This record gives sequence, structure tokens and C-alpha cells, in this order.
Amino acid sequence: MKKPEHIIILGAGLVGSLLAVYLLKRGYRVTLYERRPDMRKVQIPAGRSINLALSDRGWRALEGVKLAEDIRRIGIPMKGRMIHPQQDEIYFQPYGKEGQAIYAVSRGILNCTLLDLAEKAGAEIIFNQRCSSVDLANNTAKFLHSDTNQASEAKADLIFGADGAYSAARLQLQFTDRYNYSQTYLEHGYKELMFVANADGTHQFEKHALHIWPRGGYMLIALPNLDGTFTVTLFFPFKGNPSFEMLDSKQKVKSFFSEIFPDAVPLLPTLEEDFFQNPTGSLVTVRSFPWSFDNKLVLIGDAAHAIVPFYGQGMNCGFEDCTVLNQLLDEYDDEWEQVIPAYEQHRKPAADGIAELAVNNFYEMRDLVGHPDFILRKKIEAWFSEKHPDKWIPLYTMVTFSHIPYHEALKRGKQQDAIMDEVMKQPDIEKNWQSEKVEQRILSMLN
Ligand SMILES: Cc1cc2nc3c(=O)[nH]c(=O)nc-3n(C[C@H](O)[C@H](O)[C@H](O)COP(=O)(O)OP(=O)(O)OC[C@H]3O[C@@H](n4cnc5c(N)ncnc54)[C@H](O)[C@@H]3O)c2cc1C
Repeated sequence: MKKPEHIIILGAGLVGSLLAVYLLKRGYRVTLYERRPDMRKVQIPAGRSINLALSDRGWRALEGVKLAEDIRRIGIPMKGRMIHPQQDEIYFQPYGKEGQAIYAVSRGILNCTLLDLAEKAGAEIIFNQRCSSVDLANNTAKFLHSDTNQASEAKADLIFGADGAYSAARLQLQFTDRYNYSQTYLEHGYKELMFVANADGTHQFEKHALHIWPRGGYMLIALPNLDGTFTVTLFFPFKGNPSFEMLDSKQKVKSFFSEIFPDAVPLLPTLEEDFFQNPTGSLVTVRSFPWSFDNKLVLIGDAAHAIVPFYGQGMNCGFEDCTVLNQLLDEYDDEWEQVIPAYEQHRKPAADGIAELAVNNFYEMRDLVGHPDFILRKKIEAWFSEKHPDKWIPLYTMVTFSHIPYHEALKRGKQQDAIMDEVMKQPDIEKNWQSEKVEQRILSMLN
């Protein structure tokens, strides 16, 4: 395979535009094709993850293009979860050690900044072009203009599919022989709402926290925005009792929220209107393999591995794809024949790992975070990890504040869970958890 000169990226979302910057810095000519109009000129429609949690894997990818400091300035550190029980007082659970935080960042600002950077580095970005198919034999992507439906096509030495969970590039691969593909939907969907700010533009709840209202089979969460508002997401069953289907009138919505999320309602003055105006999104996990075809087409980001949002890792994982790809290009001196298979082999187990972790975290967030046993478990883990940082890293820390491959974190997390199951069975554990006996017991099980 000769070194590609011209690379096409389908999709100028978060991952596509970051990938463009990485490739441009290596000297490739890059053209991005994006289905939507230029988001720097038009407003993003409401109701689609307006802000995102950015954590260490994402930061490292942004550091690689010298963007981390700029984005950190517009991010809000969230140091832990603020739990809002239905009856009791709210309380705080730190995510990690002092100084560790995930950051709430505006999706729009992040994407626009990446587009600016890509353009500055020399990318050509063509908007309103929806990829309809890829001619794999001829390295050619086919497009339809999003407004006029006018057809066009473009050829390149290499094409990246960074066109998201419903990728047209991936669909093309599905027509090839022995292609593995699955999509699994949760029975829950999501709806975004907005908490209003105080009159002076400050936040009505603690801004350095991710707020959660765990309610068993469903939950509400809120992430802070810079303007004093919070983006609020209800993760809720499509059907059953209660469900989106059941909340079919403004009155039912109001009384449901008033009963179940009482402290949230005063911050949602247009709840009933927003609830019916904003779309209900579905939550899908996509698994596919291989992620490439004949060194001509390569998938990246959600196009390769869409996951549910409960670990706040979808974008972070896609950004990590870019970091790893760039490292492999260094390692193999831009020999793409070696880089592409190595990229797939590195990233596929990681993507499967975070897909599983993300679904598991849904159950943890909605069912467990408020339980005394869960809280005690986390306290014991934090205490033991503080004493033996080389022996124990809590799972959340491995996923969020480290670069340990996701599948390795999943494996270690399962081992630690099994140990904690045993520890929690000890009599009077709630009284004597900080004892030498408990410490020795954990150490012996680890050995
Ligand atoms: C409710 C919710 C909350 C989330 N919260 C977090 C979080 O806190 N942290 C986190 O890390 N991740 C989060 N995610 C996941 C995150 O949004 C995705 O992982 C991330 O957006 C993936 O980036 P991407 O560029 O691969 O895909 P996308 O962001 O989907 O971008 C794909 C781009 O391709 C374009 N496109 C699509 N089809 C075509 C086509 N046929 N031709 C041309 N262009 C096309 C799209 O318009 C888009 O611009 C969340 C997701 C959801 C749904």
C-alpha cells in the first residue's frame, strides 16, 4: 500500500474533527464531509447531550493537539456525585481522590473549537453532504446534498468513517463477507430538560458535582453549564409503569415530577412544554468487526463502537482511538498496512470492555448509589486503595482517571468486586471496616 496522500473523513463530529487535526499534523491532506450544516453558523437543536463529561482519556487526546488548556478553561470540574434521595437530605460522593474531577464541557463549543483547529491546520470541510454509500473497490464515497439531494462523489487514498452510531460507512462494511455486527437497545430512552439559573446567572445547585436522582428502575441526572443552567437528562423506560408511554399529558408529567423529583421541579419552570417538545432518544450499543476493509476504509469513534452514556465515556473512548492511532503511526512510521490491523487489535477489546462497563454503570447509578451497603463498599475500597495504591485502584478511577485499557479495568473490576462481596459478608463490617483484620483479609484474597 502506498502512503496515502489524501484522506477523506466522513463526519465532522467530535471524533472526526479531532482525527483530522491529528492527520493534518502528520502531513496528510484531509477533507471532511459532514451531513449537517456548519454548526459554527447555525444552532444545534435542543435535546441531544448538550454537555458531556470529559475525563482523562479525552484530556490526553486533546493534549496531543495542544487543545487541553483552552478546553479546561471552559469546562466545569465535577468532583463527585451529589445524590438526591426522594425523602432524605442530599449528600455528596467523591469520584476519586482530592483534586480528581471529571469536567462538564459543552458539546457545541468543543466541536466548534475542533472544527476551527482542523481548518486552521489546513482541512477542507464540506458541509451538507450526507454520505449515502462507499464504493469499497474504488475508494470512493458517494454523497447526497442534505438540502437538494444532488448526488456527488469523492475519491481518496483512504477513507475514515467517523459518522457516528448510525454510520453509513459501517453499513457498507455490513454488506461484505463474514462481517460481525450487532446493535442492542436498552428498554430505556432519554429526554433532555434544562434547570434554569438564578437571576444573577449563578447555579441553583452545587455546580462542582454531577447530580443524580436515583430511583430504582430509572433516574434523573444533571450536569452544569457555564451560564448557570444545568442540562438535565431523564433516563426512563419507554414502556411500563412508570414510562414515557404513561406520561402522556402535561398534568401527568407535572404530578410525576412533583412526587418523584420534588427538589428538581422548581428549577424546571417550563417542564411540561419541554417534556413534550424535546425528543426522546434511544440508547444503543453497537458492536462491529472488523473496523476496516482492505486498508481503504477504517471506522473510528461511535461508527465503530457506540455505547450507552452511563460511564460518560463514548467521546472519551473515541478520542482515545485517535491517541492510539497516532501512537501506532509513530511506531510504524506511517506504514498503514501495519497500522490499521494494529489499531483494530488494540481498540476492539477496549471498546467491548467499555460497552459492558457502561451498561453495568447504568444499574449502579439508578439502583445502587443510594444504598448504605454500596456507600460502605465504596468507602472500604477508597480506604484500602489509599493504603495500598499499588494493589487496588477502584474501578471508577481506572475507567475515568487512568489510561488502563478498558478491558483490563473491567477484568480487574470483576476481581475486586468478588473480593468486596466476601468482605461485605463479614459480621459487623459496618462497625469495623477500618480494621487490620479487614485489611489483612483483602490482602490475602488479592494474593
Ligand atoms: C445522552 C448522551 C450523553 C452522552 N454523554 C457523554 C459523556 O458525558 N461523555 C462522553 O465521553 N460521551 C458521552 N456521550 C457519547 C458521545 O456523544 C459520543 O460517543 C460521541 O459523540 C461520538 O463522537 P463521534 O464523532 O464518533 O460521533 P458523533 O458525535 O455522532 O458525530 C458523527 C458526525 O457524523 C455526521 N454524520 C452522520 N452520518 C453521516 C453521513 N452519512 N454522512 C456525513 N456525515 C454524517 C453527524 O452529523 C456528526 O456530525 C453521550 C451520548 C449521549 C447520547
